[in-house]
Amino acid sequence: MSSSAPPPFDPADPLGLDDLLAPEEKAVRDTVRSWAADRVMPHIAEWYERGELPGIRELARELGSIGALGMSLEGYGCAGASAVQYGLACLELEAADSGIRSLVSVQGSLAMYAIHRYGSEEQKQRWLPRMASGEAIGCFGLTEPDHGSDPAGMRTHAKRDGGDWVLSGRKMWITNGSVASVAVVWARTDEGVRGFVVPTDTPGFSAPEIRHKWSLRASVTSELVMDGVRLPADAVLPEVTGLRGPLSCLNHARYGIVWGAMGAARSSFEAALGYARTREQFGRPIGGFQLTQAKLADMALELHKGILLAHHLGRRMDAGRLRPEQVSFGKLNNVREAIEICRTSRTILGANGISLEYPVMRHATNLESVLTYEGTVEMHQLVLGKALTGVDAFR
Ligand SMILES: Cc1cc2nc3c(=O)[nH]c(=O)nc-3n(C[C@H](O)[C@H](O)[C@H](O)COP(=O)(O)OP(=O)(O)OC[C@H]3O[C@@H](n4cnc5c(N)ncnc54)[C@H](O)[C@@H]3O)c2cc1C
Repeated sequence: MSSSAPPPFDPADPLGLDDLLAPEEKAVRDTVRSWAADRVMPHIAEWYERGELPGIRELARELGSIGALGMSLEGYGCAGASAVQYGLACLELEAADSGIRSLVSVQGSLAMYAIHRYGSEEQKQRWLPRMASGEAIGCFGLTEPDHGSDPAGMRTHAKRDGGDWVLSGRKMWITNGSVASVAVVWARTDEGVRGFVVPTDTPGFSAPEIRHKWSLRASVTSELVMDGVRLPADAVLPEVTGLRGPLSCLNHARYGIVWGAMGAARSSFEAALGYARTREQFGRPIGGFQLTQAKLADMALELHKGILLAHHLGRRMDAGRLRPEQVSFGKLNNVREAIEICRTSRTILGANGISLEYPVMRHATNLESVLTYEGTVEMHQLVLGKALTGVDAFR
């Protein structure tokens, strides 16, 4: 046992979790944090208020230049980072805004991951380097207007016509849809569910943007409309048939959310802590009241437990030992706790808590989407319920 004194208590890292990170992991975190501080933080409140992500193509290229797109994939211009490095990047991006993290998750963990894992060599060569650099943006179309949690009922279908495929149907709530150059679209075929790599300038394809959202306002969300889209035989992802294709991609994206949600929580907690130290009522800082301290202490517990959990899952993913049920564990816990942290932070900020001058309400409303996409709270409870009891309660 060492006789030296432990390092001083750090309110930003009360458990000393930094000690778990290697220098190259800290370097990724610091690069992404400083990019977000420079390029997102000064503008995000305005983008959010306008309900736009202006300059998204430029942002994508910059994210590509720091290696954040398809970050944990190997080759084809991707950074080949570890799962923990990718997770740290997600945390830093979502500390800025969930919309920015969503751009990166959908690009890397959904669209690029699908092509990287299930695509032909020709599909990989054609799309991955341009997607890694941010020159081409991708989207991932699984959800439909009538089929969300239960994608098995999807109506979008592709039929063979001579040597071609003809794709028809609608997808809903698709991140990056209107700005994408390429869409990975999942469709029912005579052989089962297949994935198609669809250049978005193909005749019959359109992607109208969904407006009037009160969550993820600094993110492009779209409908995909496919009206007899004719595709060559080699547009299909050759290496997978069935729902395990899209579900494996979702598992990868959910892993990033386990980290990302803690970024939104950290940003809200920091805002609340700073406010509690300086805002005075009844002649002293509100952080001096026991009720406020109880809130801060409880938030710090959940925030850093959540980061520790994300870290643990990341190490398991890097070791090839991460199960989907464990990802459900992390997504369910961390998004739910992150929303609670935002709501409690909001109370500490009083009326200022509802203002865009502070990040708290923006994060809270963003997390309403994060709670729903990539599997709702209820879906992850059912995944865990099934794993615990052995009984499937989905239907
Ligand atoms: C901003 C945003 C971006 C998105 N981006 C994408 C994207 O890029 N690509 C994509 O494919 N999708 C995307 N989605 C869609 C998202 O994945 C779906 O919204 C999600 O899967 C839930 O589907 P749903 O909205 O149709 O809800 P539903 O499935 O209709 O569920 C409604 C409610 O019923 C509950 N429920 C359903 N079945 C059960 C059951 N068996 N037991 C108990 N409760 C149940 C759900 O948990 C939920 O609370 C996005 C969504 C949002 C909000």
